[in-house]
Amino acid sequence: MKKTQKKSNNKLQTNLNNLLPYNNKLESREIENITMLVVHCTELENIASARVYGEKIHYQSGTGNSGHYYIEKSGKTYQWVENNRVAHHVKDYNQNTIGIELDNLGRYPNWHKTSAQYMHDKYPKVQIDALIQLIQKLQKQLPNLQYITGHEDLDTRLIKSENNPEIYIRRKMDPGRLFPWQIVMQNISLINTGSLGKKDE
Ligand SMILES: [Zn+2]
Repeated sequence: MKKTQKKSNNKLQTNLNNLLPYNNKLESREIENITMLVVHCTELENIASARVYGEKIHYQSGTGNSGHYYIEKSGKTYQWVENNRVAHHVKDYNQNTIGIELDNLGRYPNWHKTSAQYMHDKYPKVQIDALIQLIQKLQKQLPNLQYITGHEDLDTRLIKSENNPEIYIRRKMDPGRLFPWQIVMQNISLINTGSLGKKDE
């Protein structure tokens, strides 16, 4: 019986379970103000990389960019920001939303190259089951929660691709075409305001 699980991994798990170090510096809000969930994918290798990214300080307030919740491919779910704090996860819509990040490669590592604009990493069933459970829990906790959408539907900006300035690509594409909106919508009672979810209503 080998107990040689890498120490660094254990340490990382502990960290993952904790709120981000700057959680208390994020703007506070009443949970009654939360009306919408925004589904994202990390577009990174794994949740550990996402944590490194999330801990980076980007603002004078001593805070950075992250979602509230992170769900691994195994279904393991972490909360990094409290619901009553405004996280920076989507341009212009942070105040009234909760960001849920799914571990998924997305366009990693060539996010803005024309050759990488095809989201190919599938969402395992166990990960989607965990998402549904989380949403059902949030529906009980947040009295005014009504809507859900994907990041790609709230940020539709185009940018020049890295390799060809004449070709414009989407700045955000998450959670993308492989995200199973239909299955999720069948199991929750929120209104989907996104373009991809609408056809399933
Ligand atoms: Zn996103």
